[in-house]
Amino acid sequence: MSRHATHTFTADEVRSLNIRSLPQAGALAVGSSVSVRWSSGACLSAMANADRLRVQWRGGAVHDVLLTATPQPFGGIRHWLVCPVCGRRRGVLYWSSRLWACRGCLGITYPSQREAGANRALRREQEIRRRLGGSTNILEPFPERPKGMHHTTYRRLVAEAVAHGGRHVTLLWEALRRKREGPR
Ligand SMILES: [Zn+2]
Repeated sequence: MSRHATHTFTADEVRSLNIRSLPQAGALAVGSSVSVRWSSGACLSAMANADRLRVQWRGGAVHDVLLTATPQPFGGIRHWLVCPVCGRRRGVLYWSSRLWACRGCLGITYPSQREAGANRALRREQEIRRRLGGSTNILEPFPERPKGMHHTTYRRLVAEAVAHGGRHVTLLWEALRRKREGPR
């Protein structure tokens, strides 16, 4: 039996192939195919064979992604994608312009992780400013050295605050850029 289904993905699912989205779309029945269309217009099509998905991203080269399955505790099976780099079972693979591989192998971080990292860096800088008697407003001039604080301590705290500030801006910028660029 051959089925065809179309699936519309949100920008959050950019360039990713999520096994959980596919069974509902009928892609895992042998001989069935699925089209995945992103809001940007990019399109992925997948065709299921016995043990693999034939995946085509944006009309480019066709790549085979191996499938595997594990039994579920209460019956039935759970499908997985096999990362071609590490060979591990994965729920989601990402497109990296040459191959589909897992997040760990591609070194991808979630946008939320970048934002969390940016917020953490901001809080660290604010903590240092407060410790030096300043406010948490990072747009204000950096606080002077408090009376009684050793010069070495002050210089170390300034250096730390500058490093946190740089990290805050960098991570924030990366998170924004990723959101604006969308799928590639
Ligand atoms: Zn991997």
